[in-house]
Amino acid sequence: MIPGLLIPVNDGRTATVTPPTPHIPAIPGGILRLMRIGAHVDRPDPLNAAAARHADVVQFFLTDPQSFATPQPRDDTEAIRSSSVDVFIHAPYLINVATTNNRIRIPSRKLLLAHARAAADLGAAGLIVHGGHVGAGTSIEVGFDNWRKTFAYAADEGGFPVPILIENTAGGDNACARRLDALARLWEVVGPSGAGFCLDTCHAHAGGEPLLDLVDRVKAITGRVDLVHANNSRDPFDSGRDRHANLDKGQIDPELLVAVVRAANAPVVVETPGGADEQGADIAFLRDRLG
Ligand SMILES: [Zn+2]
Repeated sequence: MIPGLLIPVNDGRTATVTPPTPHIPAIPGGILRLMRIGAHVDRPDPLNAAAARHADVVQFFLTDPQSFATPQPRDDTEAIRSSSVDVFIHAPYLINVATTNNRIRIPSRKLLLAHARAAADLGAAGLIVHGGHVGAGTSIEVGFDNWRKTFAYAADEGGFPVPILIENTAGGDNACARRLDALARLWEVVGPSGAGFCLDTCHAHAGGEPLLDLVDRVKAITGRVDLVHANNSRDPFDSGRDRHANLDKGQIDPELLVAVVRAANAPVVVETPGGADEQGADIAFLRDRLG
């Protein structure tokens, strides 16, 4: 508890008030931490992985990300729900709700809702899903309309029980959320349904969107950034390649990454290579710069 503070009141006397206890964990050294920073970790034991990285936030997959498997109940559900660590769930990579391929789009739509329900069971703050794409020769407008149908389907089923955070992607010519002109069209469709946005710095750089002032340009479209994926990139600007690097090791100026994180003022997850040591160093790097 923070001890009561003496504050002056209007009639000249003083009153004792007890400020609410902040729901913000103290970092070693006792300084209050305002920005929540963490990592994408393996799914078997996310809480221990968070502890090993001194993470306030974890993100993980509920299933093999290269499968259409249905999420299963977890033994650590109560531990995760009652933990002070914030949780985000990442949907499988195979999900593509935008595609015209029925054999991908329909399972994707259903699986997105199944993952959202499983994420809600864990008390997750959101479910991250890539913006998806349509095939060559197909109008991207079809992809946007398929996003509209995804939210309509979920609404018919009772709605998504956690925020759906659509993430920008690095590659492809017909991607719904690679370039900001496409994102603007997508948001006309999904914004009114309450979609959230996850900004990945590696994907923006590799996807051809300069990071300088990017948060302002994104927020002009979406009105929000709910989560930042802070990653450096092994590849050049506009390469279309999605290969993450540790924050001080890629082609993006690390200080530009810090500037994006600061401007977004949202929780941060590093999806960088390596184990607890490497990711822990990336988290520490951000805390050090943002402190
Ligand atoms: Zn990402």
